[in-house]
Amino acid sequence: MTDGDMRYGRCGACGGGEVYRGEYVAQAGLRKPGGGKFRAKQPVFDAYVCAACGNTQLHVQLDAKMASHIRHELEWIPPQKRLG
Ligand SMILES: [Zn+2]
Repeated sequence: MTDGDMRYGRCGACGGGEVYRGEYVAQAGLRKPGGGKFRAKQPVFDAYVCAACGNTQLHVQLDAKMASHIRHELEWIPPQKRLG
C-alpha cells in the first residue's frame, strides 16, 4: 500500500512533490490515549513534511523493543471499513 504514504515522495494531502524528511524526537514519550503514566521510552520518528501545505507524516523508527512497547502499551485499532 503506497496511497498516502509520504515515504514515496508524494504528499498525501495536496498531492505535491515537495516532501522532505527529518527526525522528530518525542520529548514526553508515547502512551495510549488519555492515560497512564508517561513512559521513559522516547521514540524517534522519521518525519515526512510537505513544504507546500505542511502536511506531516510520522513513522516511528522500529526495532524489536519499540515494536514490543507499541504492542503492549498502546491501543490497537483493528482494521475496519468505517470509523465508529
Ligand atoms: Zn502537501
